[in-house]
Amino acid sequence: MIYLDYQATTPLAPEARDAMLPWLGGAETVGFANPHSPHRPGRAAAAAIEVARQQVAALLPPGGRVIFTGSATEALNLAIFGSGAKRLAVSAIEHAAVLDTARAASSCVTLLPVNTNGLVDAAAAIPQGSDLVAVMQVNNEIGTVQPVNELAEASHRAGALFLCDAVQGAGKISYPEGADLVALSAHKLYGPKGIGALWVRDGVTLSPLMYGGGQEQGLRSGTLSPALCAGFGAAAKLALERAEADMQHVASLWSIAREILSRWTLNGSAEARWPGNMNVRLEGVDVARLMSDLRDLAFSAGSACASGSGRPSHVLTALGLSPHEAKSSIRLGFGRYSRLREIEDACARINAAAAAQGV
Ligand code: PLP
Repeated sequence: MIYLDYQATTPLAPEARDAMLPWLGGAETVGFANPHSPHRPGRAAAAAIEVARQQVAALLPPGGRVIFTGSATEALNLAIFGSGAKRLAVSAIEHAAVLDTARAASSCVTLLPVNTNGLVDAAAAIPQGSDLVAVMQVNNEIGTVQPVNELAEASHRAGALFLCDAVQGAGKISYPEGADLVALSAHKLYGPKGIGALWVRDGVTLSPLMYGGGQEQGLRSGTLSPALCAGFGAAAKLALERAEADMQHVASLWSIAREILSRWTLNGSAEARWPGNMNVRLEGVDVARLMSDLRDLAFSAGSACASGSGRPSHVLTALGLSPHEAKSSIRLGFGRYSRLREIEDACARINAAAAAQGV
């Protein structure tokens, strides 16, 4: 199996797994202790969580705090509902965790359009008097990097807070400066599933979604998992240390894949992008058949979330692609643990399978 779905999730880094193990201990160790208990094992678990919090905070701007959540989806819900925003502006290519949450929170949601390159215009018409603007850092379907620093400034000029879904960019590219709220997910940066975080700029106040023990500074009640926090922290630390090496590795895989798939048209900007995401289309290709012919390649048609729904991707149609073009698109995602030979092999087989369809 060749794994080509790094936007859906990334492999767990061995370093992150090792950091988790002491906190999964059985009855013979005390690693399982409740981090909110005042006894010694509880305090040790709490200390491990604080180390992890610092490690995750290092991926984010100074001047804020990290609230651990169960996922980025939860972090985005906490930001959108917790801010109490009623006039929202969100980009047309946001993940459902932002789009659907914004629509659930308010009936007054302005969609900020993207150009044919999949980029939100930094001078986009953010309605004056908006409460909250949300634009993602790196798009999960097409990999385009949005001008989030400029958008944060424009949001502030319009009187709004700026929320950035940095799930696909965190630990890979530099943090979104100027954001007031930033959502992250551990499993997209080689950490474990089941944990995310919301970074909240100092001075921004939120209401909790859940009530209970008042953990996470009253914003997220519920017992934290020290193992998940430690895994997230270790993954964040490693991502910072390896950022340059990971980027170079992924960029070299991109060049080879692009060369082999030169017949395929790239969806989204070739320049303003994370190179570990290649969304390409080929006129006439039957993607469902391609995927069934290539069952030992784990890649996706559109985004993992939209796959299987039968609807053309809202991201690809926002770029101006016809439903037909959107449905002849595939997404290949690669990263730290992808090997050159695997990418060459996978791309050659994708070409051969398309040729077998007569396209
Ligand atoms: N935002 C983006 C851009 C994503 O790609 C994803 C996951 O696919 C999410 C949010 C949701 O993340 P989580 O799985 O942690 O809820």
